Amino acid sequence: DTILPNWLLRCAENQPNHLAAQCGPVRWSFTELLRQADHLAYQLAARGVSKESRVALLATNGLPFVVTVHALMRLGAILIPLNTRLTQQELAWQLSDVQATFLCSDQRYADIAQQLADEITPLAHVLITSDVQQDVLVADQTEGPVIALQETIHLDAVHSIMYTSGTTGHPKGVLITYGMLCWGALGSALTLGHYADDCWLACLPLFHVSGLTVLMRSVINGISVNLHEKFEPEAVNRAIFEERVTIISVVAVVLQRMLDALDASEAQGRYPATLRCVLLGGGPAPRPLLERCAAKNIPVVQTYGLTESCAQAVTLLPADALRKLGSAGKPLFPVQLRILTEDYQPVPPGEPGIIHLQGPTITPGYDHRPEATAHAFHNGWFTTGDLGYVDEEGYLYVLDRRTDLIISGGENVYPAEIEAVLMSHPEVEDAGVCGVDDSQWGQLPIAFVRLREGSSLTATELGPYVTQHLAHYKRPKAIYAVAQLPRNSAGKLLRRELPGLLPS
Ligand code: AMP
Ligand code: MG
Repeated sequence: DTILPNWLLRCAENQPNHLAAQCGPVRWSFTELLRQADHLAYQLAARGVSKESRVALLATNGLPFVVTVHALMRLGAILIPLNTRLTQQELAWQLSDVQATFLCSDQRYADIAQQLADEITPLAHVLITSDVQQDVLVADQTEGPVIALQETIHLDAVHSIMYTSGTTGHPKGVLITYGMLCWGALGSALTLGHYADDCWLACLPLFHVSGLTVLMRSVINGISVNLHEKFEPEAVNRAIFEERVTIISVVAVVLQRMLDALDASEAQGRYPATLRCVLLGGGPAPRPLLERCAAKNIPVVQTYGLTESCAQAVTLLPADALRKLGSAGKPLFPVQLRILTEDYQPVPPGEPGIIHLQGPTITPGYDHRPEATAHAFHNGWFTTGDLGYVDEEGYLYVLDRRTDLIISGGENVYPAEIEAVLMSHPEVEDAGVCGVDDSQWGQLPIAFVRLREGSSLTATELGPYVTQHLAHYKRPKAIYAVAQLPRNSAGKLLRRELPGLLPS
C-alpha cells in the first residue's frame, strides 16, 4: 500500500493562494478550501463520523458538496454520492444496500434526507449549512469529542462507492479507491497535458464519476475548478469566455446545447483559444456533432470509460479527431486494453469483441457482491460488457453494449450504429433503437426518434434516408416519433425502457 500526503493539504502547502474552486461569485483558494474542509471534518467527527464510516451525500453541485468530499477524505470516511434525480424509494434502496450510517445533505435536499433517515436505521441525517458569521460550512447537532484529521492517503483505501447509472438491471456499488483516482488523474494529465493555470469547468453531476474525478484532478494536479450548480448553456459559455476555462467535461447533449447557444450569441460560433480541451464522453459521439466541432476548430477530445474504470480510460486527441472519426482513441498511460471473444480468446484487429481493461484505474470490484465481482473479471482483466474493435493502429471503436446487441437472422445489429444514422438526419434531434422479438428473424430493430422542434417530417418519412444509409438487415422495422427519449442524468440512453414507448 502506497501512502501519499492528503492531496488538498499538499495543494494548500505548495500553492496556498492558487484558485481551488469557483462557484458563482465565490472564489476559494486552496487555503480556504482546506479551512472549510477541516472545519467541517471536525464537526462531522463530532457527529460520530470516523475512519471508514459510510457517509452518503445528497447535494446539488456546489461548494457544500465539494467541502463534504474533502472533509470525508480528512476523516478517512467513505463517500457514497447519491444521484439527486432518484426517487425516495430508489434512494432508500441504495442507502440500505450500501449500509450507510450517515446521510449528509445540503439545504435543498434536507427534507427528503430527513425522511430517509427517519425510515432507515441506523442512518443519521447531517445537514450541511453555512454559518454566515464565521463564513464556514457547518454540520448541525455537533457535540462529540474532537479527533485528529488524517494527514495522508492510502492508495489502496476505498475513497467512495459509486452506484453505476444502472442502464442494465439493478445498480451495483463500484468501489473507487484513492489509487484509481490518483492514477486516473495522472494518466489524464499525461494525455491531455498539464498546465499550472488550467481551469476545469464542471457542469456534469458531481455524483457521477465524470464529475467527481474533476474535483480529484483539481487537488492532485493543483488546478482550479469552475463549478456550475446546473448545466445552463449560456452560463457555461460565458464562463468559457470570461473566466479562462481551459478544460470542460461534457456529454453529447450538453455539447450540442452549448454550440446552439454559441451560434445564437455574438461570438459567431467560435470559442476563445484558451479553451484547449472539450472532453466528450459518456456515450457514442454523434458524427454531425463531431463534424460541427471540427468546422469551428473546437478541440474535442473523445473519451471512453466507465464508473468501473474511474471515468476516462481511452482517449482520442484532437489531432486524430477527423482521421479517426468515430474512434474513442487509445488507452491512457496506466491502462491496458484488449478485445476478447465471449470465451476470452483474443480477436484480431478490425474484428469486434468484448472490450476488456486492466490497470490501476480499474476497480477492485463491487461492494459486497463477490459474485458480480468474480463475473466481471477474468484472469485479472475487467470485462466492460461493451462491444468494440481496435484498428491496425490500435485505435478503439466502441460499437455498443453487449446486452443491447440485436441479433437478427444471425447478423449482429448494433443499435448505436442505427441511432447514429438517424441522428445524422438534420430533422432528427435524438434517437433510440432496441430489438423486438420476431418469429422469423429472432429479433428486429425498431427505432424511436425525437424530431427537431417545428419539424414537419413524420417518422415514416425517414424510411428512404435509412434505406440509403443502412444495409437491409439493419433497417428498423418501424420508426416512431416520440416527445422524449429515456435518458438518465448522465445523458445515457436507457434502451431497456424504449419498448415502453411503443404505441399500445
Ligand atoms: P457508466 O459506468 O454508467 O459511467 O457508463 C459507462 C458506459 O457508457 C460504458 O460501458 C459504455 O457503454 C458507455 N460509454 C462511455 N463512453 C463511451 C464512448 N466513448 N462511446 C460509446 N459508449 C460509451
Ligand atoms: Mg456501467
